[in-house]
Amino acid sequence: MQFTLRDAHLIDVTTDIARGAITIDGTQIQAIECPEYSPDGQDDQIIDATGMIVMPGFIDVHTHGGGGYNLHTTDADEIRAYTRWTPETGVTSFLIAVVGVPDSVPEPQLRAAVEVLNNNQVVGAEPLGIHLEGPYINVARRGAHQPSWLRTPDEIEIEQLLAITDGHLRLLTLAPELPGASAMICQLVNAGITVSMGHTDATYEQAQEAIKLGVTHVTHCFNAMRPLLHRSPGPLAALAQAKHVRGELIADGVHVHPAAMNALVKMLGPERTVVITDALSAAGVPKAPFDFAGQPAQVIFGAADDQPGSSRAGRASERVSTGWLRRRLTYLRSITVTPGHYLPWSGRLCNR
Ligand SMILES: [Zn+2]
Repeated sequence: MQFTLRDAHLIDVTTDIARGAITIDGTQIQAIECPEYSPDGQDDQIIDATGMIVMPGFIDVHTHGGGGYNLHTTDADEIRAYTRWTPETGVTSFLIAVVGVPDSVPEPQLRAAVEVLNNNQVVGAEPLGIHLEGPYINVARRGAHQPSWLRTPDEIEIEQLLAITDGHLRLLTLAPELPGASAMICQLVNAGITVSMGHTDATYEQAQEAIKLGVTHVTHCFNAMRPLLHRSPGPLAALAQAKHVRGELIADGVHVHPAAMNALVKMLGPERTVVITDALSAAGVPKAPFDFAGQPAQVIFGAADDQPGSSRAGRASERVSTGWLRRRLTYLRSITVTPGHYLPWSGRLCNR
């Protein structure tokens, strides 16, 4: 089906047309026209989009769910339900995040994700692979990840995980200071996986070493990591100096103070800042208790708190602040092109 959105504000990383028309045929953009253009065609093929912004979809490489649906699940249909729900938030593609499970590897959850990824009958947003957040992370920076979920790096176990994920593992978050993590980084890099450091207490020197070994991504900068201090600069200083490494940012204004958000973007530029939601299943749902991998949680001020009754703003944004994005369209690149550029599907992105 072909249709045209008329009189819309059209924005992508190189274009800003205050009033234009965009014609779409099936899944492809056929034409983008400037203000004077009056599209031909039947009325039902022309949609008046006056006052609306049309922009590329958000590629969310770090989300645990939303709309009441968990991505860390043994039920493939729950993941499919998320793909149908999430486009209303602006997300058009994403990685399926899987976390740890007590005293084991999350094999049933990974198999559910693989079942969805191996079957292209998905409606809505497109799952692009798996992000395994842990279980090889530091208990001292665990955030909402329970101690019983955490594991010590093990080469045989990684081979098992690579086999289970059947070529769909795209991103793995680990703490590089753990014993055995260096060998694991090399093993994953050799297998073509993007390795991210996160939930980490790594020093600046340990983070630099991890980057030398092949780490090219940093999980939710500022959150669940050794902070940047003047005599103990930690992973953020190592990230700032490595021009090929990208850093995630939970851009809800709650997990990271807006001034710190701006400082990170100034430090990395939109080309190296990857905006994420780190959303949990309660994202977009009216206030209600929910669970994160079986652990009770609730939403407070748009962020999840894994310890009901405490005042700590916890692990997950409800969604990226659309106001922040609209005010800072310069950073559109950080939600559209940058998240996808280093992953195997980047060839489908417009390369500019
Ligand atoms: Zn997460």
